Amino acid sequence: MGLLRDPALADDGALKIEFAAGRMPVLADLTRRWAESRPLRGQRIAACLHVTTETANLCRALIAGGAEVALCASNPLSTKDDVAASIQRDIGAEVFAVHGCDRETFYRQVAGTLDSLPTLVIDDGADLTATIHNERPELLGEITGGTEVTSTGVLRLRNMAADGALRYPLLPANDAVTKHLFDNRYGTGQNTIDGILRATNVLIAGSTVVVAGYGWCGKGVAMRARGMGAEVVVTEVDAVRALEAKLDGLRVLPMREAAGLADIVVTTTGNRDVITTEHMKLMRDGAIIGNSGHFDLEIAVAELTALATGRRQIRPHCVEYTLPGGNRIILLAEGRLLGQAAAEAHPAEVMDMTFATQALIVRHLAEHAGELAPGVHPVPHEIETEVAQAKLAAYGIEIDELTERQREYLGGWQTGT
Ligand code: SAH
Repeated sequence: MGLLRDPALADDGALKIEFAAGRMPVLADLTRRWAESRPLRGQRIAACLHVTTETANLCRALIAGGAEVALCASNPLSTKDDVAASIQRDIGAEVFAVHGCDRETFYRQVAGTLDSLPTLVIDDGADLTATIHNERPELLGEITGGTEVTSTGVLRLRNMAADGALRYPLLPANDAVTKHLFDNRYGTGQNTIDGILRATNVLIAGSTVVVAGYGWCGKGVAMRARGMGAEVVVTEVDAVRALEAKLDGLRVLPMREAAGLADIVVTTTGNRDVITTEHMKLMRDGAIIGNSGHFDLEIAVAELTALATGRRQIRPHCVEYTLPGGNRIILLAEGRLLGQAAAEAHPAEVMDMTFATQALIVRHLAEHAGELAPGVHPVPHEIETEVAQAKLAAYGIEIDELTERQREYLGGWQTGT
């Protein structure tokens, strides 16, 4: 059953999961209520997520709601083996996750998870949905719907839908404001800096940090780097986002000009080939490069390896490459997701909102998937409102309410200037 590094690690994992649980009040409240109402009874959920303490608490909510859960890792580097062991032993999901496993084992874990014959799918990067459609179409008969947590996964699913290939309804959690405004911005913003610091311990103040991409993740990284005293340069391909960066007070340059100024470059684009060896050749000696986007394709790692005359692991998560001219480039976390590999992924407080949104989407699918056509659907607004209100309540924050007169005013059109 499942695939773990070592089931005996479960005690350590349990303590860490408990620590995170105390910081996830919205999910904890859902878990309590769902243990009574059991809205997911009869559902079999296959989930592909970072195997973290926060994911553990999502699994607990889903299982409290009556679902059976099979979980595999969305990234071999973010798996915490002790947490994986406790999710299986204490929370009761079947877990397929081994930290640092190779590609073949990774896909064996995906396959093992799909062997649970899911009725609902939770994805982080569309790996399950892609595997189901490409390799396991026989599962489509049972699957009623799915959800996707990350921007790149949503892009893929929209491409699938546009091609007419997507065979079930999907409600992407990433599309909810209670996800991307917070998780992408404050989660990625913080854990990218955290990953850079744990890996290198460099001083951010006074450095030049180049952020590639000014979506929600890039905005978060830029905001935090600036807050710590860096000069921040943004590179973009989208005119509106570039303007936003400019009016946020940041310098905007093409990468070929930014590269030479950088002490640190972080990619957050979701695209490929954002830092090429041509850019690396322009960088200063000792420049640090890392990726906080979806895949390890944002930085041309294979080309860097081919070009370099020397390569050595200089600290954990830091590989130093020497270029033919003698300059050195420090690559963080093999070009993989930096905040997940070198730090600890997003903190519990923000995953509380992501996973409460996710859990409510799963409940919505359990109740309404049959009414939805295959394709990508918007997240119902009530879900976002419920999560935001619950999070505010957990912070002990009250807000004003519209008066009847205000409601009428907002709903009318007769009152002019
Ligand atoms: N397959 C990609 C996944 C993208 S990661 C990879 O290479 O790792 C981005 C997603 O990770 C975000 O949508 C975020 O919600 C999720 N995430 C971040 N921190 C997490 C945590 N502590 N636990 C579970 N998921 C997390």
